[in-house]
Amino acid sequence: MAADTLRRFMLERAHVRGEWVHLDQTWQEMLARAEYPAFVKTVLGEALTAAVLLSATIKHDGALILQIRGDGPIHLLVVQATSDGAVRGLAHWSREAENTTLPDLFGEGHIAITLESRKNSERYQSVIPLEGDSLTAALEAYFSRSEQLPTRLWLVSDDVSAAGILLQRLPQQQASDEDWLRASLLLDTLTAAELAHLEPEEVLYRLFHEEEPRLFEPKAIHFHCGCSRERVENMLRSLGQAEAEAVLDEQGKIVITCEFCNAGYTLDAVDVGRLFKPSMPVSDSLH
Ligand SMILES: [Zn+2]
Repeated sequence: MAADTLRRFMLERAHVRGEWVHLDQTWQEMLARAEYPAFVKTVLGEALTAAVLLSATIKHDGALILQIRGDGPIHLLVVQATSDGAVRGLAHWSREAENTTLPDLFGEGHIAITLESRKNSERYQSVIPLEGDSLTAALEAYFSRSEQLPTRLWLVSDDVSAAGILLQRLPQQQASDEDWLRASLLLDTLTAAELAHLEPEEVLYRLFHEEEPRLFEPKAIHFHCGCSRERVENMLRSLGQAEAEAVLDEQGKIVITCEFCNAGYTLDAVDVGRLFKPSMPVSDSLH
């Protein structure tokens, strides 16, 4: 199996592009960092897969963050995929869900998709209400509402792996409604088992062999958090000296655990003092 791999493809005849992804070790590493009940795991795996697929359709150097907030059993879900193939994610839940439709899992809520540029820390965010029964439906609604290229998604996830496929109509004029409809109907014939277990070559052959499919080079996806002591220190700085010292007074040290990867960062009074020390004026002789 092409594990932890993203594959771009083209359906030349239909003027449709696509992405296929399979997350294995990556998904296992994420699951190993928190205890999630089954109903959380499924949608978290789907969301992670979606983040990788969406990130692959956008030309950018940075991260795509998909976040869902709601008033249901799961009140927060965050997944992130960077342009160099690093993913991470987490979910916060407070009670059992009665069913697994999107409203049962999240209640009333919103999906936010954020693009964060690596170079200049610019952010673009779009937020839409959570609509439809599945994450797939909600994301497809997002694409049609935001007047982006028509896009179809198919996501599956279980304890072992998470997989997904995306079709996107190309902006060229030669892509007709008929082409898009045909590709879309062919996608509907894909079963969850096929998406979870078949190699991308087989999926393309079974579904789209008449559409002149072309498969591009694989791209590796891996679990990577990206948290660091420096980021934790910056976060504390922005929180302010009074806040940091209040925690120190109460607990003797500041312990911060990264929720995405469980890495622990401990700062004592000396560390905190150093954080808030006014920076020394640079001597002219150094220049
Ligand atoms: Zn981390």
